[in-house]
Amino acid sequence: MRTRRARKGPVVPDAATVAEIFRRFHAANPEPKGELEYVNPYTLLVAVVLSAQATDAGVNKATRPLFAVVDTPQKMLAFGEERLRDAIKTIGLYRNKAKNVIALSQQLIERFGGEVPRTREELESLPGVGRKTANVVLNIAFGAPTIAVDTHLFRVANRIPLAPGKTPLAVELGLEKIVPEPYRRHAHHWLILHGRYVCKARKPDCGRCIINDLCRYEAKTI
Ligand code: SF4
Repeated sequence: MRTRRARKGPVVPDAATVAEIFRRFHAANPEPKGELEYVNPYTLLVAVVLSAQATDAGVNKATRPLFAVVDTPQKMLAFGEERLRDAIKTIGLYRNKAKNVIALSQQLIERFGGEVPRTREELESLPGVGRKTANVVLNIAFGAPTIAVDTHLFRVANRIPLAPGKTPLAVELGLEKIVPEPYRRHAHHWLILHGRYVCKARKPDCGRCIINDLCRYEAKTI
């Protein structure tokens, strides 16, 4: 594998290697999906807001019954903050999240006709919605080629390394520069799933890793 050195910092793979990494992810899982459950863009937005510092499985457990009856901002306001708090009380930071979901539902109705907006700026203007949440919603609900950097993706991008960076934003912008266009839409799913199930935080499962010959992580176990 040929590599080039970033202006400062670790060796990063050349374009052919980056393309090969994503070709393999694509071949192994052509249509990767996120694991949060939702029924429309609004419930996806709510699920992502609820998922901050929580597991997708934990969020799904709470939202499955909730979304069966509450799937629009109007219904959420009618449901009310108290019942919402109760419905999501198994999720970390649930009090603050319930407040944000009610406030963002109100704003969706007042400012966006009850619809989820389609730009990052508009999404980020909603309570409890940061860049990562906006990127997830734009990607999954609207098919935009955005890259949402969570803790798994951040670790993997620095380990391989693909797009090393000290902050999630640096990694996101680095990946935007190097991920070949055909793979852009699903790049974040592949990397998140890779980090969650193979390139795990404490003990990466390098023996099962489909890119282990291309990875340059010093502590890889193969
Ligand atoms: S070889 Fe190991 S460290 Fe490298 S990407 Fe694969 S699982 Fe992660």
